[in-house]
Amino acid sequence: MTATNTAPPMIRMASVDKYFGSLHVLREIDLEVPKGQVVVVLGPSGSGKSTLCRAINRLEPINTGVIEVDGKPLPDEGRELAELRAEVGMVFQSFNLFAHKTILENVMLAPVKVRKQPAAEARKAAQQLLERVGIASQADKYPAQLSGGQQQRAAIARALAMRPKVMLFDEPTSALDPEMVQEVLDVMTSLAADGMTMLVVTHEMGFARKAAHRVLFMSDGEVVEDSTPESFFTAPKTTRAKDFLGKIL
Ligand code: ADP
Ligand code: MG
Repeated sequence: MTATNTAPPMIRMASVDKYFGSLHVLREIDLEVPKGQVVVVLGPSGSGKSTLCRAINRLEPINTGVIEVDGKPLPDEGRELAELRAEVGMVFQSFNLFAHKTILENVMLAPVKVRKQPAAEARKAAQQLLERVGIASQADKYPAQLSGGQQQRAAIARALAMRPKVMLFDEPTSALDPEMVQEVLDVMTSLAADGMTMLVVTHEMGFARKAAHRVLFMSDGEVVEDSTPESFFTAPKTTRAKDFLGKIL
């Protein structure tokens, strides 16, 4: 008998609902993301994209349904939750670096504090990560001394320092000046090429076409299309997706 692939999906959501008061922001979400898949999430403002990301990292608790990362249900609190947050790296529109720490210290911090990694080891790993995202020469500067693109690359290095299994990106280039967008997308594209499982909320259609294996289109808290970039961009199935593409392309 040939070996069957029994690996669980890296992310699994089943019948997930989320409300803010009476506002139903995630509606019956069913989603499986296999290991190594790059998923771009598109949709109009307010459609639930950020809430979806935040739910996977448990920054937002859900009301009903199940979310699993690498076969394990999300923990509610405590040490397990800290461990989950380490496994699921998140990069936001605002870089959220610690202003009073150098770039190198920002990247070293969580491995030392959460993972109890020896400082010398964490420093070496941080230097390698800064090299990987192309800002090794900025290691001893403070966040405010860097450009937006460099700060966002530092934020990616900081998330990678925990050796996450999944990376979530919520509009990582939306706050950047146009000339800095590409350098951040290049880092993300190289991560994707290395096999990282990624969920990326972005309006960068070039990235979606080039790096994504799959496009989800959300509208009013629902995933209304789930297809390849090729078929989504050339032949969207729903009127809502057609309207959306008409506005952004
Ligand atoms: P998107 O990222 O697609 O723009 P969000 O996930 O941020 O959408 O928001 C989905 C809906 O939930 C929106 O109607 C938004 O106003 C609402 N919402 C988001 N966060 C909160 C919150 N903390 N409290 C109340 N409503 C919220
Ligand atoms: Mg959002």
